[in-house]
Parts: sequence; structure tokens; C-alpha cells
Amino acid sequence: MQATGAIDTDMQEIQGLLERRDPYLRFRPGLEAAFVDDIRERVLEMVQRGWWVVLLFYFFVGVSTYAQVHTLSAPAYQAGNLQVWWAIFLAEGIVVAGLVLLPRIAFLREHFVAFTSVVTVIAISVITVGASAFPDPYFNQHSSYVVVFILSIAYGIGAFRLRTAALACGAAALVSWLLIRHFGLWLDTGLFQQYMLVSNAVGMMLCYMVEQRDRRMFLQGRLLQLEKDRLDAFAVELGRLSREDGLTGLANRRHFNETFLLEWERARRDGQPLALLFVDVDHFKPFNDSYGHLEGDAVLARIGGVLRSCLHRPADMAARYGGEEFVLLLPATHEAGAVDVARQVHRTIAALAIPHRASRVAAHVTVSIGVATLVPGPGMRSAQLLAAADEAAYAAKAAGRDRIMLAGAGQPVPVD
Ligand code: GH3
Ligand code: MG
Ligand code: MG
Repeated sequence: MQATGAIDTDMQEIQGLLERRDPYLRFRPGLEAAFVDDIRERVLEMVQRGWWVVLLFYFFVGVSTYAQVHTLSAPAYQAGNLQVWWAIFLAEGIVVAGLVLLPRIAFLREHFVAFTSVVTVIAISVITVGASAFPDPYFNQHSSYVVVFILSIAYGIGAFRLRTAALACGAAALVSWLLIRHFGLWLDTGLFQQYMLVSNAVGMMLCYMVEQRDRRMFLQGRLLQLEKDRLDAFAVELGRLSREDGLTGLANRRHFNETFLLEWERARRDGQPLALLFVDVDHFKPFNDSYGHLEGDAVLARIGGVLRSCLHRPADMAARYGGEEFVLLLPATHEAGAVDVARQVHRTIAALAIPHRASRVAAHVTVSIGVATLVPGPGMRSAQLLAAADEAAYAAKAAGRDRIMLAGAGQPVPVD
């Protein structure tokens, strides 16, 4: 997902394009590539699902032209006409097979534009040259109209961009003309020019209209997707904000409460101990009074960093519980392990040596820590563990601050 800034820029670009009234809407290269991909995916999906329609169309045109050869051919030309008809039918069969296989072969999918262009050149040339190859002059003329009809359809449903279509059809006209001349087939130059001109003009017009409509639809779709991306990004950001404490970047109290309940239940199921550390900054009110609130905020942020650095397992969590009170939740941790972490926290905060001239216990910022560990048993509630850690922290305060107290123990834990 893109950052919201990038999403906004993209949206502005697309809105600008949609507002433009250019008769020929074009995109910058990156967007153009996405547009071509979009067309490709749409055509591939259409062919993948509608392959039987392609086959049906092929056989329908085949059967109806076959019937015409039978009913309209003069007896003298019937066998020759039929031979040419079979040649066209089989050659176009190969083209149709190529089209039906297109979505199923990775190489063809990758070279989509080149492949469909070549297929178009072949399809048109076969029809055009084939029309001239009938030995029956009446039939040559008659087939020219069928060529106009089929060419226009090819243009309209080909999903080509105007430029590609012009190139492919120009190439087809040239190839056809050269082949007709080379084999000395029937050629009414005037008629050839006329039907190539008419079918190409009609086809170009169709292509132009389809392409412009596709471009606008593509932009609309992209706009919707970007709108969705933006909403998703907002939702992610909102989720983060609702779980995070703004000052320290730790989990906030709500997030802690949710996780605490989950871990409590897990510990109960697994019969594992759950440890909780309650960390309270000593004489923090005097610190604020002495150094100012901003300085106090900076200290809280640094302590948040220390707590984060003291977490060792993915399931461990540090949270800001209230003003200058923090908690550490340590799943599957015995008393000894919890005391180790408490010691590390205590030691690391002391090592920051943040001056605290208003403290009555040390010359730097210190904390009091209460540690409690419980294996949740029947009838026990999570609040019991919280209260035990809180009481232990309170006992640490009462015993003189700057120390660690274990719940239920009368004596502070030696800190070093
Ligand atoms: P004790 O050693 O007993 O814990 O004393 P204390 O002064 O730390 O405790 P007390 O509960 O009396 O005061 C807590 C102080 O924490 C009050 C308030 O000024 C400060 N505090 C709470 N939240 C914030 C905050 O977000 N930023 C700052 N700078 N100070 C805060
Ligand atoms: Mg407090
Ligand atoms: Mg305090």
C-alpha cells in the first residue's frame, strides 16, 4: 500500500486527467503501462471465459460462407471456390486456435500486444488474399464486402490502442497487396483501395471511441482503488493511534488491557505463569516542578525506550499505564525471570544518569518497581495480578523508593 502523500498525488493527477477535455486522452509512461496491463488482463479474462463464443463465431461465419459458396458459385467455379474456402477456413482456424490459447500460454501473455498484432495481420491478410484467390470473379467482388465487415468487427472488439491498430491494419493491407501481386491473383485496384480505406476508416473510428472510453473507465477504476487505498491507510493509522501512546510509542493502557486479558486466558489454558512489572518514576512531580513539563516529557520518552529495549520475547509487552507509570507484561515467565528483567530495567534507567536535583533518593532519575507472578487458577481474576504488582510497587515506594519489591515478599530484591 502506498503512503497517503503518494496516494493524494496520484489522485490529483487522475482527477486532472479526467477533467481534461482533450479529444485524444493520453497518459504518462508509467500510467500508460498500467493501462496496457489493464486492457491485457481484461482481454485475457474475456478470452479465457468466452473462448467458446470465439469458436461459435468462427464456425458461424464458416458455415454461412460455406453455404454461400455452394449457393452462389457458378457450377464451373464451384470446386475451385470450395478449395479456396477450405484454405481460408483452415488458416483462420489456426488464428482462432492462437487466440483461444493466448491466456493459457505464459509466453504469449507476456508478449500480448505483439502477439495480437501479428495475429491480426495474419487474420486480415488471409481473408483479403483469400478473397482474391477465388477463381470466380463474381466471388472476388462479393468477398470484398465480407472483408469490410470482418475488418470493422476486428477493429471494434480488438481492444487495440489506435496506434497499434493503425500499424497492424496498415501492415495487413500492405502484406495482402504484396501477396496478391506476387501470386498474380485477381485484383481490382480501385475496389481494393476502396474497401481497405472504408474498413480502416470505420475501424479506426471504432478503435478511437473504444480506446477513449476505456481510458476514462481505467482512470475511474484507478481513482476508486486509490480512494480505497487511502481509506485502508487511514484505518491502519487509526488502529495504530488507538493502540499506541503518543509520547513514548509504547502500547497505551487500552491496548495493554486487551492484551493482558488475552495473555491471562492463554496462561490459564497452558498452566503457565504470567508476570507483571509495575514501574513508577520516583519523585516525578518535583522533577516537573524543577525542570519543567517538557523536560519531564523527554524523560518519560527515554524511559519508554529503556523498557522497549528490555523486552526479549515477541509476546512481551511494555505499556504506559498512566502518567509516569509503566507496566511490563511477560507471558510464560517465572518469578526469577521477571526479577531479572526488573533488575535490568532498574539498572538501565539508573545508567541513563538523568540529573534530578529535586529527588530525595538519588542525584538522578530512579524508578520503583513492583513484580508479581501468577499461574492463573480456578476462580482467579486478572485484576488480582495487577493489584499484586501495584501493591508491590507501592511497597517499594514505602520502603524508600529506587528499588524492586516482589509481591508477597517483605524485603526488597537486591538490585545488583
Ligand atoms: P512518587 O515517588 O511517590 O511516585 O512521587 P511522584 O511525584 O512521582 O508521584 P505523583 O503520583 O505524586 O506524581 C506523578 C507526577 O507525574 C504528576 C505529574 O506531574 C507527572 N506526570 C504525569 N504524567 C505526565 C506527563 O505526561 N508528562 C510529564 N512531564 N509529567 C507527567
Ligand atoms: Mg505514580
Ligand atoms: Mg511516581
